[in-house]
Amino acid sequence: MGSTAYDEAIAGLSQLLSEKDGLEDVAAAKIKQVTAELQATQNGGSKDTFDPVERIKSGFLRFKTEKYLKNPSLHGELAKGQSPKFLVFACSDSRVCPSHILDFQLGEAFVVRNIANMVPQYDQTKFSGTGAAIEYAVLHLKVENIVVIGHSCCGGIKGLMSIPDHGATSTEFIEEWVKICQIARSKVKSEHNSLEFSEQCTNCEKEAVNVSLGNLLTYPFVREAVAKKTLALKGAHYDFIKGSFELWNLDFSLTPSSCIS
Ligand SMILES: [Zn+2]
Repeated sequence: MGSTAYDEAIAGLSQLLSEKDGLEDVAAAKIKQVTAELQATQNGGSKDTFDPVERIKSGFLRFKTEKYLKNPSLHGELAKGQSPKFLVFACSDSRVCPSHILDFQLGEAFVVRNIANMVPQYDQTKFSGTGAAIEYAVLHLKVENIVVIGHSCCGGIKGLMSIPDHGATSTEFIEEWVKICQIARSKVKSEHNSLEFSEQCTNCEKEAVNVSLGNLLTYPFVREAVAKKTLALKGAHYDFIKGSFELWNLDFSLTPSSCIS
């Protein structure tokens, strides 16, 4: 059997540890020190220490008693399969979870989350992760709607708008990823140049959603379903400062948006 990427990563790590003289000892000493400090804190120190395992346990138990055990029929249904009506693209930002803000229940929405809720153009090698999710949702789950949700204060969009004009990037992945919506940036920079930077970003958050809606049409199975009217494409922008949600359709041209607040 050939060496896997995982084996290579482990080998690389071992090599790093052996090259750096005494790194293992230093690391072990550090772990001991941190453990001792934690124990000291627990034995009479501050009770504010965050315990991730406790947080996960209590969260799951709350979900189990308040939702899972109260709805046995739903979970019986879900065990047979899923038929969500929505494929949702949302940002990975911890403040914009679509199940929270749109109150989606289990089984209602198939969700893809990434930096700045972007849909890349059809590319079987570069973006196979996104392509697989769209293919599964459209061809197998037969979702009736794809919703791309942008949001206020999006760090990914701010990153896109902050790339210097000469194009040099300083991150390993982030800027390359957000460049998917490069056209949105160019449009905002040329049409709204006089606006303050934060307002330009707000405009770009919405323009980037439209670029993603356009990119969805580069997937042949999406195009086909939209043409047959079995699939609708929608853009949205959630503003958590104002507490409002803007929604619009892509019907081969953009329809005026409606705002829910
Ligand atoms: Zn974001």
